[in-house]
Amino acid sequence: MEIWAIANQKGGVGKTTTTISVADALANRGFRVLMLDLDPQASLTSYLKLDPDQIENTTYDLFEQPSRIRPLETGFDRLDIVGGSLGLANLEKRAATIQGKGLVLKSWLSTKTDLYDFCLVDTPPALGMLMINALVACDRLLVPVQTDFLALKGLERMLRMLVMLGRSGREINYLLIPTLYDQRTNASKRTLQTLRNQYGDHLWPGIIPIDTRLRDASRLGVPPSSMFSQSRAVAAYDNLTADLLREVDERRA
Ligand code: ADP
Ligand code: MG
Repeated sequence: MEIWAIANQKGGVGKTTTTISVADALANRGFRVLMLDLDPQASLTSYLKLDPDQIENTTYDLFEQPSRIRPLETGFDRLDIVGGSLGLANLEKRAATIQGKGLVLKSWLSTKTDLYDFCLVDTPPALGMLMINALVACDRLLVPVQTDFLALKGLERMLRMLVMLGRSGREINYLLIPTLYDQRTNASKRTLQTLRNQYGDHLWPGIIPIDTRLRDASRLGVPPSSMFSQSRAVAAYDNLTADLLREVDERRA
């Protein structure tokens, strides 16, 4: 099983959208995909019309009793989820002091390798215990970056933190993904240029355009391609997925 974490300390940059869209693209290619919602706001869970207050077997439970957790079916082919729960916020506070809590997710996932080809982990906008679990477990880190001026502020520092937190005898392999790209604005164009100058190999060469279809899909609670197969953003996420798959093949060869 290949594990990808989706992270950025900023909210509203497209983490959850990237998680569902890439998961969607992988499932369309026949892969069995597990999504994990580690965000106390549980946006990914709510996106799929699951109620974080009602469901059992959440990522909160995963940290309490890992052996009992069973992923839920989403109703979409080859897409399962362990949903988030508001309790994650308390867990984050309590767990700061508990030794060894950083490896819970990694060891739980090691028991699921036969069931899924991919696991995508949507993370909270905080550099705490939940984030550490995602970073330590992942083979690759995807960092959606909104293409506006403010997005670059603090980015370098955050990347250094993420790499440091995820280090466990290896260098974490991250990829920046320019999101919410609006070709009509200077902010988008100039931010993208700056990213290209500064991040080279760590920057995905494509862009995810602003596309209201993604918002429509989230309102409807469906993976974007299932309703909007002609959308530009769906095509962009599919290209991103193809590039990520190529990288996996190269790494494994
Ligand atoms: P995060 O998880 O980083 O907080 P989200 O993925 O929830 O960010 O995105 C924030 C909002 O922006 C959501 O309403 C989402 O539907 C919308 N959104 C995300 N990406 C795009 C895009 N490429 N085009 C248009 N809207 C988008
Ligand atoms: Mg989110």
